[in-house]
Amino acid sequence: MSTNPPEVAIFKRRESEARSYCRGCDTVFTSAIGSEMIARDSTRYIDFLAGCSSLNYGHNDPDMKDAFIDHLQSDGLAHGLDLHTDAKAAFLDAFDRFILQPRKMDHKVMFTGPTEANAKEAALKLARKVTGRTNAIAFTNGFHGVTLGALSATGNSYHRGGAGTTLNGVTRMPYDGYFPGNTDTADFLEAMLRDRSSGLDAPAALLLETVQGEGGLNAARPEWVRRVAALAQKHGALLIIDDIQAGCGRTGGFFSFEDMGVTPDIVTLAKSVSGFGLPMALLLVRPEHDVFGPAEHNGTFRGNTHAFVTACVAISKFWGDDRFQIDVTRKAKLLTAALEDMAELLPGATLKGRGMMQGLDVGSRELAAMVCARAFKDDLIIETSGKEDQVIKVLAPLTTDDDTLLKGLKVLRHALRMTTDSSKFAAE
Ligand SMILES: *Cc1c(COP(=O)(O)O)cnc(C)c1O
Repeated sequence: MSTNPPEVAIFKRRESEARSYCRGCDTVFTSAIGSEMIARDSTRYIDFLAGCSSLNYGHNDPDMKDAFIDHLQSDGLAHGLDLHTDAKAAFLDAFDRFILQPRKMDHKVMFTGPTEANAKEAALKLARKVTGRTNAIAFTNGFHGVTLGALSATGNSYHRGGAGTTLNGVTRMPYDGYFPGNTDTADFLEAMLRDRSSGLDAPAALLLETVQGEGGLNAARPEWVRRVAALAQKHGALLIIDDIQAGCGRTGGFFSFEDMGVTPDIVTLAKSVSGFGLPMALLLVRPEHDVFGPAEHNGTFRGNTHAFVTACVAISKFWGDDRFQIDVTRKAKLLTAALEDMAELLPGATLKGRGMMQGLDVGSRELAAMVCARAFKDDLIIETSGKEDQVIKVLAPLTTDDDTLLKGLKVLRHALRMTTDSSKFAAE
């Protein structure tokens, strides 16, 4: 357990109250490597947050670091607007060769400002431009960013409440599994779309995550995603898949939808796309929908050359063959087994998510927060998600070795046991 260094005071005194993750991890970090983050007092934390899935390949991957340093040493461009650069060409080549072509995706790559919210703004604008419609359909518990256009698609009332203005142009529909029992919410969506008197305006886009990261690790069934895709096509709407958190290998494949037999019209990527934690966002657009004029959606930082350099290494190193993907799928099974074992400690706890994006719904915000706080005391960084922040979410880097993964899971199990024991005790 770390001691709290005096410099923590500056954050409390000067940093905005909008700060968030740091509140649960009250120490000062000075370095990070692989799946570990190291604090000022040399405490080594196992990182099960991984920059909220921005660090799928761990911290400071040596090959990405070398390429980055070489680029700096040789006076490579740092910032290039959207000019042609060698770094961008190398990234596009690698992405074309190792990601798009093997998956038979003919999409164009559009770079946006470096946050996902910016990519989401672009995706919604583009879908509206393509279709000439304004309404977009998003789903319950979806999280798509907090700028106004993206926020209109985000479900969470706390985030929506921060808007301070009306959020327009999005109709909410129930995500897969929203109702208990066997209700298929795609039936509802289909009926609403078909009935011209349902009150649902014809949609420009249907926007979804295949696993809702912030929304509590709700994983849609492939059949449901296929039905939504078919409905989008039938009704002249674009299918937008937000693969920010579930993509870049988090659920096994590079894309979270790649075994589902759907081809989205637009895919948004950010978080782990640079591989190194550098800011970078993009959308993939079917060529027939690539209709923005030059700079119609622009952004100063569309050419973050450092991110292109590390992204190129990430793609070539991890996606040149299927070894990484097979290993992620194997590790995901270890994770499932450990979470199943933990669920037995707490009646009513349920497993959520898929791939290396799984967690435990413990039923209450208080309990989930207590477990994470206890884990942090034992040098594990882990966070919650879900509508009540009731899901403990494991987002270990995909490169985490088995020993570290199992060690972290053991700490989590211990935290859960200590917390549930003491809360039982408190209740008695
Ligand atoms: C993190 C996240 C976003 C927001 O990304 P920013 O880069 O913070 O704007 C949007 N959608 C999903 C699914 C995310 O996980």
